[in-house]
Amino acid sequence: MRRKLVVANRKMNGNLSGNKVFLEALLAGTCDYSNADYVVCVPHPYLFQAESILKGSPIAWGGQNMSRYESGAYTGSVSPSMLVEFGCEYVIIGHSERRQRGHDTDLSTGERFEAATKAGLKPIFCMGETLAEYEEGITDIVTIRQLNAVIHEIGVQGLAKGVLAYEPVWAIGTGKAASPEHAQNVLSFLRGHIEVLDAELAQNIRILYGGSVKADNAEKLFSMPDIDGGLVGGASLNTEEFVSICQAAGRI
Ligand code: PEP
Repeated sequence: MRRKLVVANRKMNGNLSGNKVFLEALLAGTCDYSNADYVVCVPHPYLFQAESILKGSPIAWGGQNMSRYESGAYTGSVSPSMLVEFGCEYVIIGHSERRQRGHDTDLSTGERFEAATKAGLKPIFCMGETLAEYEEGITDIVTIRQLNAVIHEIGVQGLAKGVLAYEPVWAIGTGKAASPEHAQNVLSFLRGHIEVLDAELAQNIRILYGGSVKADNAEKLFSMPDIDGGLVGGASLNTEEFVSICQAAGRI
């Protein structure tokens, strides 16, 4: 039985005082930890703060990106071991906001997935089609291409060290979440693709849905058989709403 997982992607938002309120409210929120896990991904400067508030609690924290390199002349980048040093358990890899601006490619996401796992981090690997690709009916082709780039780099069993997230680009930050049925179909398709390669892994790997998850649609989405939780952007900026989403995951 896969545990549910809810990940806050706070993107480039927050400040010391606001983060404190958010993280403390999350700790105080009556989330059920018996069958669900919770993660907060904050901008890199605030990892220290996340660590100091969340350390020793059941809530994990992580980065939103990282370099594939350990050190060197990579101005503005952060290495896997730097994230580990600040207690990160997770790191987001291949978010569409980075793919779209040309920072991330299929090749670089595969390489960074591998670098993350080598450092002991759990990558949260994002895949998803644009609106044009959705309208063209090629969601499956796009997501499989993105997933295969990682499998090519680390082999199918390497996926076991991470988490997958299907995030249709047209649903991110738009308020128009995919229907639970659409998300379920895509996740079932992705799980089926993995199953052909490794049936046990397919049953165990967590695949999240992301894209306008809110308090009022979380429970329906998370109740679908292949949706193991959510990657939550905008709604993670509203403390009450994010706590409700976490509670919905804990109830299922
Ligand atoms: C995201 O940025 O990963 C995301 C899912 O954003 P939102 O929840 O705002 O759509």
